[in-house]
Amino acid sequence: MRFTILASGSTGNATLIETAQTAVLIDAGLSARALVRRMTAVGFDPARLTAVLITHEHSDHVGGLSVLARQLNLPVFIAPAARRHLRLPEKEAAAIRWADPLAPEQPVVLGDLTLMPIAAPHDAAEPFVFTATAGGVKLGIVTDLGYIPPQVAHRLVGCQALILEANHDGDMLRAGPYPWELKQRVAGRLGHLSNDEMARFLREDFDGNAAHIVLAHLSRQNNHPALARLAALQALAGHTVHRDWEAVITVTPPDGLPHWYTL
Ligand SMILES: [Zn+2]
Ligand SMILES: [Zn+2]
Repeated sequence: MRFTILASGSTGNATLIETAQTAVLIDAGLSARALVRRMTAVGFDPARLTAVLITHEHSDHVGGLSVLARQLNLPVFIAPAARRHLRLPEKEAAAIRWADPLAPEQPVVLGDLTLMPIAAPHDAAEPFVFTATAGGVKLGIVTDLGYIPPQVAHRLVGCQALILEANHDGDMLRAGPYPWELKQRVAGRLGHLSNDEMARFLREDFDGNAAHIVLAHLSRQNNHPALARLAALQALAGHTVHRDWEAVITVTPPDGLPHWYTL
């Protein structure tokens, strides 16, 4: 299995996962044109996509979905409530290949790749995080959630790689430019993962197994890549598993990763 991130953060999210038989996009939050351009830039032919899976209906995750799915005739896996919230014009919706609806803990098997939707605490209709498993390796895609509940942490055991949200630094969010209500929403239990909560997960729940931890969905206003990285490294410094954690942690820029990770 290999994966790359095409875009990350409030301006758009999309993760590309490829195995011997299958290639999927998790979210399509850029325009279809930008998604195709970025897939091509990492040496991937968009015609090889098998399907697109949607974590939730926020625009930074579905912005290019309708056009891309129709252009490439891709089956779309999405929760029923999230699909309703897309509010697509009837004609447009009718032209999309809707796959079996996503449901929590009901794995989607596409050739040699299995995707597991896991219910996540986030202010959307029916939000999921995912694990992707193929050939005995597992990747966790864990963004857009206010905190990491035990049932999510449990599913992440054994991951060889983790894409983990590090949305905001608490102090920067409090002192920053967002209106009070938005600050409350972002910091809330159904908001986004702070550096502190990400670090708490790494300190208390993380099994130390992942060779790659890719911090993602950073806020441009309320976080800094160096702060997110430092929070992760400090959390891992005392971990019972000893690794070169400096080499394990990557912070994703908004424009995504310039390369693939192979597991
Ligand atoms: Zn998001
Ligand atoms: Zn969201």
